[in-house]
Amino acid sequence: MKYDVIVVGSGFAGSVLARKFADDNKKVLIYEKRPHIAGNMYEETINGIRVHKYGPHIFHTNNAKVMDFLKQYGQWYFYEHKVLGKINNVLVPIPFNFKSLELLYNQNEAEEIKAKLLKRYKGLPKVSILDLINEKDPVIKKFGKFVYKNVFENYTAKQWNIPISEIDKSVINRVPVILGYDDRYFQDKYQYMPKLGYTKLFEQLLDSKNITIKLATDALQDITIDNNKIYVKNKEFNGIVIYTGEIDELFNYRFNALPYRSLDLVFENCNMSYYQPSAVVNYPNEEKYTRITEFKYFSNQLIDNNTIILKEYSKKYDYKDVKCIPYYAIISDENIQQYNKIMNWLKVYLIYICVVD
Ligand SMILES: Cc1cc2nc3c(=O)[nH]c(=O)nc-3n(C[C@H](O)[C@H](O)[C@H](O)COP(=O)(O)OP(=O)(O)OC[C@H]3O[C@@H](n4cnc5c(N)ncnc54)[C@H](O)[C@@H]3O)c2cc1C
Repeated sequence: MKYDVIVVGSGFAGSVLARKFADDNKKVLIYEKRPHIAGNMYEETINGIRVHKYGPHIFHTNNAKVMDFLKQYGQWYFYEHKVLGKINNVLVPIPFNFKSLELLYNQNEAEEIKAKLLKRYKGLPKVSILDLINEKDPVIKKFGKFVYKNVFENYTAKQWNIPISEIDKSVINRVPVILGYDDRYFQDKYQYMPKLGYTKLFEQLLDSKNITIKLATDALQDITIDNNKIYVKNKEFNGIVIYTGEIDELFNYRFNALPYRSLDLVFENCNMSYYQPSAVVNYPNEEKYTRITEFKYFSNQLIDNNTIILKEYSKKYDYKDVKCIPYYAIISDENIQQYNKIMNWLKVYLIYICVVD
């Protein structure tokens, strides 16, 4: 079969684009180097419970078009994600909200801080901890420092293993304090989980006569780029190539490897109905792991005396180790520059970057 489009990677990005092209009557070939589809959203059933093999994935969007598109490929159920964090041995809502404040401060202090926050940020649903720390009012500033230290500082050091001073300000700026009692982790309009799980959703998405999938196949074994041209198995390919893998790997690290963090994911089966009071509990401080996920909260499966949890340990990423997965890009000025260098090279020499609506 002659292909019009080659898609590298069967995660969300690759699978959605493959489907769009297939519906346009294009013949699509997907290369996937893992032995399964769905990328990092892949789910597997262990002891009757669906688990997210690459860490917890929660779907949320404000875009009605995205939601309508995905609804064509399976049923969804309403799911609002809630996260708790262990701070001073108390489980409090994360992002930090007024309930967290009341659980960690005495009543008088909590009332004073809440009143000051409401007056200072009147009408706003949330405020960044960076703004709180930079406040003049000593009560607000002290509270900001408390949240920064207990929710953000140690967690960030654990997660990224670099001095806090090297963390990009944009990361700190994204950490909010909710000015009220909303304890949802996301505020998006559409928050749903696929009823039969992500793997089933991807199976439906890729179920088209125009799509062929090659699993357990590294596309870069077949595809080469030379002199502004793309070759597949040494024959020039004039169709469209969508690449959703790591950008530095595409050019065989000729611009050096971009830095990422990886994870050790440790799954445990527990003989109890529920292990913890919410889907995710963050451990910002004492413990070596960063968070524990309990999957039954996602899948809505009613199973007694059995539950599966996942402990996540952040670790160094080594691009030479094929088993090591680059989960999180490390964002810093230097790394953004490095990334832009690759993207500029791409734009000038090879492909134009397009946004697909
Ligand atoms: C722990 C964790 C939790 C996350 N939680 C959320 C969340 O709750 N909500 C959310 O929206 N997002 C979350 N994300 C981000 C999430 O992973 C993405 O939204 C989504 O999975 C990205 O899809 P993708 O297709 O871009 O990448 P991926 O899912 O990574 O898919 C890329 C695929 O390309 C394949 N591939 C790469 N190179 C090649 C090659 N050379 N040849 C063949 N195949 C190749 C890979 O094997 C992979 O299957 C999370 C990320 C992590 C790491």
